[in-house]
Amino acid sequence: MKNNCIFCAIAEGEIPSFKVYEDDVALAYLDINPFSFGHTLVIPKVHTEGLLDTPDETLAAVLARVKKIAAHIKTALPCDGFNILQNNGEAAGQTVKHVHFHIVPRMNGDTLFFENHKGDMDALKRLADRLRM
Ligand code: 5GP
Ligand code: ZN
Repeated sequence: MKNNCIFCAIAEGEIPSFKVYEDDVALAYLDINPFSFGHTLVIPKVHTEGLLDTPDETLAAVLARVKKIAAHIKTALPCDGFNILQNNGEAAGQTVKHVHFHIVPRMNGDTLFFENHKGDMDALKRLADRLRM
């Protein structure tokens, strides 16, 4: 596996994902164990570990995709707001060492804790089909 990295394997198509968006720079897919309905991850295709080793141009390009995908999610799903999360280092809860942005859809009054819930693969597939841009 390239860079011994599961997100590189997803970007290379070696591991399947519930893809929502893809272009030459970035890829977005549903988190397999979502915090909330529609929880989406956005990654640059080129491997870097976190915010600090990622070139500014890549961050700018990926964040522009994050904005576009979040806007789409907000209209396509019941979604009153959203969080953007980006964890750096184990101390901050980073488990996958390929820089990524979480888009976490929120509903008014939800009592969301940022914790993973085991994903239902059929439901994730249906949701990705619905969200794909
Ligand atoms: P981190 O804690 O590193 O910021 O977030 C990693 C996220 O990646 C977690 O929310 C986890 O559920 C998700 N994740 C881990 N492995 C996979 C995978 O193979 N496919 C997908 N779609 N998400 C994954
Ligand atoms: Zn990687």
